[in-house]
Amino acid sequence: MKRECEIVQDLLFSYNDGVLSKSSIELVENHLKDCKVCQDKLKEIQLDNNKNNDEKKEVDYLKNVRKKLDKKTKIITISTILLVIIIILNIAVFVNYNNVASNIQIFMENDITQEELSQIEQKIIDNYKDIEITYNSSEDELNSMKEKFGDNQNLLAGYNESNNPFPASYIVKAKLKDVNNIKRDVENLDGVKKVTTYIEENPYLLFLLQIIN
Ligand SMILES: [Zn+2]
Repeated sequence: MKRECEIVQDLLFSYNDGVLSKSSIELVENHLKDCKVCQDKLKEIQLDNNKNNDEKKEVDYLKNVRKKLDKKTKIITISTILLVIIIILNIAVFVNYNNVASNIQIFMENDITQEELSQIEQKIIDNYKDIEITYNSSEDELNSMKEKFGDNQNLLAGYNESNNPFPASYIVKAKLKDVNNIKRDVENLDGVKKVTTYIEENPYLLFLLQIIN
């Protein structure tokens, strides 16, 4: 190999990359005109270079596809989690509503007689299946209020059996479809002061209230 060929071939990579000074470019190009060996060497370098570029493009393309897939996977995962949360929340709301709205509380007048009490209870037992009735005396009510008041229960200290401000009540647990009928059946009976149900409340509102309490 000629001495000049050696020098030119050392410069060929930089020549191909376009980073040579003007005078070096002149030197390389003048030599290339007459030297077949160095021309071939340059072609080889250019071929190699193109191949490398193609490979790089391919790798970039694959990286891009992967990035897009990662993004898609993320979106799908987040959507799925959100969907599951929404479904679980709705089930919880539904279960809570069924639980709360199947209760009817029947408050009694203070002067209700034992006979009137039995009539109310009988009316419900005779006409509806799968019923649970709990009697809540005004004393029970006063005691549970005192419990709720906790440290402040001396506010209620003046109250006893004779001046108890809380009415006695029946708490009835029934099927949802029977709640309105039971309310209608008992609200005009003697001794009944008021009937409360949650059947017409918004299930989501009931759920929120449950959480707050
Ligand atoms: Zn040469």
